[in-house]
Amino acid sequence: MSDSAGNEGSGTAVPPAAGDGTRAVRAGLPEPVKHEPTLPGPVFAAHFHLPGEPTGPYAYGRDENPTWTHLERAIGELEAPGGEGVETLVFASGMAAISSVLFSQLRAGDAVVLPSDGYQALPLVRAQLEAYGIEVRTAPTGGDAQLDVLDGARLLWIESPSNPGLDVCDIRRLVEAAHARGALVAVDNTLATPLGQRPLELGADFSVASGTKQLTGHGDVLLGYVAGRDAEAMASVRRWRKIVGAISGPMEAWLAHRSIATLQLRVDQQNASALTVAQALRRRPEVSGLRYPGLPDDPAHKIASEQMQRFGCVVSFTLPTRARADRFLDALRLVDDATSFGGVRSTAERRGRWGGDAVPEGFIRLSVGAEDPADLVADLLRALDESAD
Ligand SMILES: *Cc1c(COP(=O)(O)O)cnc(C)c1O
Repeated sequence: MSDSAGNEGSGTAVPPAAGDGTRAVRAGLPEPVKHEPTLPGPVFAAHFHLPGEPTGPYAYGRDENPTWTHLERAIGELEAPGGEGVETLVFASGMAAISSVLFSQLRAGDAVVLPSDGYQALPLVRAQLEAYGIEVRTAPTGGDAQLDVLDGARLLWIESPSNPGLDVCDIRRLVEAAHARGALVAVDNTLATPLGQRPLELGADFSVASGTKQLTGHGDVLLGYVAGRDAEAMASVRRWRKIVGAISGPMEAWLAHRSIATLQLRVDQQNASALTVAQALRRRPEVSGLRYPGLPDDPAHKIASEQMQRFGCVVSFTLPTRARADRFLDALRLVDDATSFGGVRSTAERRGRWGGDAVPEGFIRLSVGAEDPADLVADLLRALDESAD
């Protein structure tokens, strides 16, 4: 095997100053080898030939896999262009990645600060952390409210922009306050993608994300990752992955890597359309509470523009009643009624149907896809008209 494991440096070094499109299409590609494919296919292997002393990277498929190595390099190059010593680990899902950080870094007696308005599985995680004797504090993302409950915490968990409310906090400010108190900081970077926000450059210790959403963008893969700079902390995250075995299959890892080549094309198209859609929806009288961090007068816009390069493809808003929201979703033709977000095909859902988020009954989370924005706007406005009382 000519390619060695680990995440130090990539084969075909793309200058860190290269544009996002260049970095996305070349991310994680190995050194060119005559007659080999530019992106090697998935390596399906539970074990590898390993005579003698068990040294070297690839021994057993739960620990390492060459297809992961390429993907981990790719994500690392996007999360921290030119960043020395950044290590990235891929997981079976975003939740596997999140759990690996929380459960590897926290011990009984520690305190952790979570967002009160974060991803809907966080309350389940909270219950499990508490069962293990960890104190869990929560505060909203907006207004940097997590600052008020930081004293004595071992880990601060940030989700910015938050899902589904799209609030934003000042990551640099929270990191500074947390580090001054000796706490580690993890940022859930799912909604922004590494082309929208780079938490490690804002000072965070871990950038953690679900790759299921816009990073891979086709609604056909579950994936998660953790990127971090602290070798010791990352070693314990790696150990956790080995213990729980929450590993990505080689096919999923390869599909994810292939999808990252179009990340810049997708985010630029989808995010620009999200702004167009938000501007069209805000003019409608039945739409309230419209949020999109890219809207110049959104409450999150000022901080978002100081720490984000792109504002995501998710728009949220509220229709007057649950019935109206259901009729609106039914009337849409170009937008699937489905959960998740970030895919090339637009999706929307009435978020309250899950019961986990503190949102009004008529709250809609809309994920803007890669359709032509004029078609999307027409479909959304028609569905609003048709669903009127
Ligand atoms: C979807 C999501 C997750 C969980 O990711 P999975 O890949 O579904 O496990 C975590 N955080 C955020 C913000 C998400 O949107």
